[in-house]
Amino acid sequence: DSLGPTLCVGEILVEIVATTPGCGFRAPQPLIGPYPSGAPAIFMSQCGRLGGAAALVGCVGDDDFGQLNLDRLRQDGVETGAIGIDPEYPTGSAFVRYRPDGQRDFVFNLAKSAAARFGWTAGTEALCDRAGHLHVMGTALAMASAWEVIDRALPRIKARGGSVSFDPNLRKELLRDPDILPRFARMVAECDLLLPSGAELQQAAGVEDAEAAVAALLQGGVAEIALKQGEAGATVYRRDAPPVHSQAFAVEEIDPTGAGDCFGGAYVTCRRLGLPVAEALTYACAAGARNVTRRGPMEGAGTRAELDAFIAATGYRA
Ligand code: ATP
Ligand code: MG
Repeated sequence: DSLGPTLCVGEILVEIVATTPGCGFRAPQPLIGPYPSGAPAIFMSQCGRLGGAAALVGCVGDDDFGQLNLDRLRQDGVETGAIGIDPEYPTGSAFVRYRPDGQRDFVFNLAKSAAARFGWTAGTEALCDRAGHLHVMGTALAMASAWEVIDRALPRIKARGGSVSFDPNLRKELLRDPDILPRFARMVAECDLLLPSGAELQQAAGVEDAEAAVAALLQGGVAEIALKQGEAGATVYRRDAPPVHSQAFAVEEIDPTGAGDCFGGAYVTCRRLGLPVAEALTYACAAGARNVTRRGPMEGAGTRAELDAFIAATGYRA
């Protein structure tokens, strides 16, 4: 961690959540929010709360939604100096409603919001020249502004001995964009730590079988794979060590959004702080599980003390 902060690049937004299950937003209904959100912001919030040095590159509007995000990130100890404040465009937003089957309906204002209005600046360059780790979210692969920054940040951070992690976070819409697959392949090739969820493991390797996918990725140069398995917990694979598995903690799920991002933020931070794999994995599973017990995408991210208390008080799922 002494090498410098963990950097993440991408969308910052607010989320407004329907309080009743159902389909979409074609009728008036009760809503709750705004909550600070965006996969990179959730990841960073969890890093900061665990005491890891963290800095986010992105943009918000000159409005309350933007201020809400900046306030939260600062409160969590995240550097916000490389977050722009766009004078013209509003902060990104997403309205979210859960269907009874767990599917989600969204109304997004992202691509044409402040969330996408940033790029490579002298400030970002200076930040990269003291960063020790780059975490890339799959959502950034589909965002021209984020990719521009990542494309330049990656070789700089690597050249100074920094490491790279990648959470594919693939949605099927992303795969239709012809630019995405080569970026995805590049991130798989460049990352030291891969954090796939379920079948993203096989997609990353281009192999049907999970075991063969793990072998191919480790062979290809990924040092560590932390496979997220939802309510089945998570497993870490490395080249010269047996897999390490953690069951999921038994919690009541109130809002599943952000589990994977909190898992990643906790795992990366714990590893960068020097914790062994098994301990980092326990914290990561606890971070994911604790986050789903609170409504709002990052409301349940925990500090080290909160996660210790959570682990002590919570059993594993049967
Ligand atoms: P997301 O849905 O946020 O994209 P993801 O698919 O990337 O998440 P998940 O596997 O859903 O990742 O969640 C990450 C980790 O959080 C899991 O490995 C698990 O340890 C924990 N977790 C997630 N959901 C639950 C749950 N309902 N109960 C207990 N633990 C959970
Ligand atoms: Mg999931």
